Amino acid sequence: MASVSIRNVRKSFGSTEVLHGVSVEIADGEFVVLVGPSGCGKSTLLRMIAGLENITSGEIAIGGRVVNNVPPKDRDIAMVFQNYALYPHMTVRDNMAFSLSLAKAPKQVIEAEVGRAARILGLEGLLHRYPRQLSGGQRQRVAMGRAIVRNPQVFLFDEPLSNLDAKLRVQMRAEIRELQMRLNTTTVYVTHDQIEAMTMADKIVVMNSGHVEQIGPPLELYDRPANLFVAGFIGSPA
Ligand code: ADP
Ligand code: MG
Repeated sequence: MASVSIRNVRKSFGSTEVLHGVSVEIADGEFVVLVGPSGCGKSTLLRMIAGLENITSGEIAIGGRVVNNVPPKDRDIAMVFQNYALYPHMTVRDNMAFSLSLAKAPKQVIEAEVGRAARILGLEGLLHRYPRQLSGGQRQRVAMGRAIVRNPQVFLFDEPLSNLDAKLRVQMRAEIRELQMRLNTTTVYVTHDQIEAMTMADKIVVMNSGHVEQIGPPLELYDRPANLFVAGFIGSPA
């Protein structure tokens, strides 16, 4: 695990600035949720932590190391997306092994890591299936398995549950949280769903139009919202 420091980060696409100086401190092992309306800059910020977008100004440090110029593959992070993009022609096992194979990990290491992830996620019986033979929840677990096998210092989630039905979403929230507590991996989790933020986060970052409105534990935001935006956003139904 590692801390993540986001220091006065700005992002422009062409002449349009979409993040206007965002600062967030994330401690080792903390589960932080970035929440805010569609278009407020959550995914852009997450992609900058991952190294998939350049930082226009400011800096991001992971485990105390400034990573502005570090390519994604050297950042020791793993990202789970909304459309988990499993490879349809590969089995569950091969989907989970893929990044380790790319990194030329030894065969025994790959087998051990895939086995460990499968045990953690309850996928042992499904390793030879193809994605089309899995339920939505099982596919989501495989997507998490692909992240776990790499033993990253930081997990990044971008709305990983938004394609699931309501019941499964509630179940997967609990599963992700349980998994994170077991592995104690520092996690940044993006959602536009207030309930998800309130039930999952150690600490919530409320974003609006490219800036941070308030940062704090769920109860603090609920009891003492910094302004009307936070009060309205946290207080309103999903
Ligand atoms: P969120 O994830 O909170 O919905 P995004 O980070 O996706 O928001 O987008 C923030 C803003 O940046 C939006 O106005 C979006 O249109 C813009 N944006 C995101 N990616 C690009 C891009 N590659 N080129 C231009 N504008 C972008
Ligand atoms: Mg987004």
